[in-house]
Amino acid sequence: MSFATGLICRECGTTYPSEARYACDFCFGPLEVDYDLAAARGQVTHASIAAGPASIWRYGALLPDPGDEPIDLGVGWTPLRRATRLAEVLGVRELWLKDDTRNPTGSFKDRVVSVALSSARRLGFTTAACASTGNLATSVAAHAAAIGWKSVTIIPSDLERSKIAMTAIFGGTVLGVEGNYDDVNRLCVELVAEHPDWAFANVNVRPYYAEGSKTLAFEVAEQLGWRLPDQVVVPLASGSQFTKIAKGFRQLVALDLVEGELPVLFGAQAQGCSPIATAFAAGADVVTPQRPHTIARSLAIGNPADGPYVLDELRRGGGDCGAVGDDEILECIALLAETEGIFAETAGGVTIASLRQLLGRGTIDSERSIVAIISGHGLKTLDAIADIAHVSATIAPSLEAAEEALRFTQLVGAS
Ligand SMILES: [Zn+2]
Repeated sequence: MSFATGLICRECGTTYPSEARYACDFCFGPLEVDYDLAAARGQVTHASIAAGPASIWRYGALLPDPGDEPIDLGVGWTPLRRATRLAEVLGVRELWLKDDTRNPTGSFKDRVVSVALSSARRLGFTTAACASTGNLATSVAAHAAAIGWKSVTIIPSDLERSKIAMTAIFGGTVLGVEGNYDDVNRLCVELVAEHPDWAFANVNVRPYYAEGSKTLAFEVAEQLGWRLPDQVVVPLASGSQFTKIAKGFRQLVALDLVEGELPVLFGAQAQGCSPIATAFAAGADVVTPQRPHTIARSLAIGNPADGPYVLDELRRGGGDCGAVGDDEILECIALLAETEGIFAETAGGVTIASLRQLLGRGTIDSERSIVAIISGHGLKTLDAIADIAHVSATIAPSLEAAEEALRFTQLVGAS
């Protein structure tokens, strides 16, 4: 049973029933899902959660009402791995990786889509849609296919080939827009007005969609034995994931499910699209839009919807925000792979490179525990690593050639 009570305006606090609505009638502010945490206290327990499925829906009490049953492809409950080898390289005492490469379509977006489309079905929608930098489109197309819905996913036409293929294979309509994500998003806002019966995951059902990201906080706390980490590093695109992770930790504290201090949250951006990091460094309250140019396409949102809320969270919590170059991103994809056996997409490289940058800056404390969110699988961005990941040598099919090449790569000593 869900303890969600309806929607509430994030700006003026006006409340609405749990309906298909995403902006406030009074101030046009964004809405979010509200909960009766007083009623949930004592009802949502470690035991009640543990009795649930091995998916995000074990936290169904703290998610929007999914109707008769959630749309669940086996989303979430991904591993939280202690990263001892990477910790040693980075010089930190306790590092954990939340490995969200392991979701059904290979990214954390499955969390938000499972929640968004479950709510959309309850609200009577029958077509799934979204504006996407790639991963969301893939997840929407897959979830729609699994329940027999049509899908319309809209992406920049020059996205990574693997992300386009991973989306198109599910059989929905994929529209490639000659423009960047911010152009795509603007177009989708116009399409919502023309097609009110389509559930655009991150537009007209965005309040429900966003809630799915809280499950990252819930899982991290539960997987640490109902302990809060000291510090969490989160990649930033629209900023929604970041603000909802913060909300998730706060809900756990409010329900007495964890003790201690809220974690300090840190943001991670690519230099080529760093509107939030730039605003934070400048002490600004508003985010000035940027035109993205980075290999981290999944984070390439130049006008982030949740930007001001991320700035609030960063300042309130004493956090900081990294901004890393494309070379550092590639280097850290390789570093993560070589030390921990996890193959992340470019966003994962942004997270690890930002962690390293903020350790160097001294804003992340190397003596306190750290969780890094690894949000998507490396198979999604194979193009990006083509120049750094290839065969060591191409050889004739002979022992002599093999031994010669192995000497060259220093795997065997010269004899
Ligand atoms: Zn309002």
